[in-house]
Amino acid sequence: MTDNRPTAGKAIELEPGLTCVLAPNPSPMTYWGTNTYLLGTDSLIVIDPGPFDQSHLGALRAAIADRPVSHILVTHSHLDHSPLAKPLAEATGAQILAFGDSSAGRSDIMNSLAATGQMAGGEGVDHDFQPDHIMADGDTVQGDGWSLTAHHTPGHFGNHLCFISGDVGFTGDHLMGWASSLVSPPDGDLTDFMASCTTLAQTGIKRAYCGHGAPIPDAQFRLAELIAHRKTREAEIIAALRPAPADPETLTRKIYSDVAPALFPMAQRNVLAHLIDLTTRNIATLLDGENPQLSATTLFALK
Ligand SMILES: [Zn+2]
Repeated sequence: MTDNRPTAGKAIELEPGLTCVLAPNPSPMTYWGTNTYLLGTDSLIVIDPGPFDQSHLGALRAAIADRPVSHILVTHSHLDHSPLAKPLAEATGAQILAFGDSSAGRSDIMNSLAATGQMAGGEGVDHDFQPDHIMADGDTVQGDGWSLTAHHTPGHFGNHLCFISGDVGFTGDHLMGWASSLVSPPDGDLTDFMASCTTLAQTGIKRAYCGHGAPIPDAQFRLAELIAHRKTREAEIIAALRPAPADPETLTRKIYSDVAPALFPMAQRNVLAHLIDLTTRNIATLLDGENPQLSATTLFALK
C-alpha cells in the first residue's frame, strides 16, 4: 500500500472532474493523512478541507487556482477534517455545509454518558466547528457535474455525513479500506455505526472515496467485510465474558493480544464501544452497583 502513497500537497486527478489533495498529517490514526477532494471542473465543491495547516491551505488554493468554490462540505468535525474549512471559506467566499456542530447527532445514551464526565474521550474533536448551513439527511447540493446527497451516518462521530452521487460515495471516516473506523465513546456509538453501515449499503454505492487512504473499488464488499469484522469482534467479547464478568482492560488484553502498545488505548475504546452496544441491546450489563461508573475497570457480565 505504501507504494501508492500520494505526495502531500500534490493535486491528483482520480477521475474527470475529481481531484484529491493529501494533507501533510500522517499518523497511526490518519494513515497517509487526510484526503481533501475537489469536485468539478469550472467551479468546485470541496469535501473535507482538513487540519489547520497553512501549507495545506496553500496547496488547496493552488489546486483551486482562480476557479470559484460553490460549497465546502465537511463529513464530520474531527480535527483532521474540519478546522481548515473556515480559512478556506474566507479565502474563497464559499459557504460551509455540515450536519451541525460537534455535539450534533450524538445518541441519547452517549449524551448521558458524556454528561457524567466519566468517559474521558473527546480526542480530536473540533469544538469550535460551526457550519454556515446545516445539511440534513437527504439534502442535496448541485455542483459542476456533481449532485451530492447527504446521508447522516453517525457512529464514528455523531455529525458524520456521507455524500452520495449516483454510485459514488464520499464516505469520510465511516468507510475506509485500510482500517475499520474507530468508534470511541462518547463521540462514537457502535449501535449507530452498525445502522449507518446498512444505510450506506442501501444507497447502492459501488465506489468509495474515503477520508484516509486509497479509493475503494468495491464499496459493497468492503461494507459487508466491515459488518462481518464487527460481528466477529462482538462474538469474541461475548465468548470472553461467558466464563466470568470482566472489565474492558482485561477483555482488550485477551482479544487484542497482538496490538501495538501505542494503539492499546484505542483498542480499549473499541471494546468499550462494543460493551455499551451489548448493554443497549440487553445482552450484557454493568456490575458495579446502583450507580455504575464507566471506566477501564468497570465489570461487565452477560445477562
Ligand atoms: Zn479522519
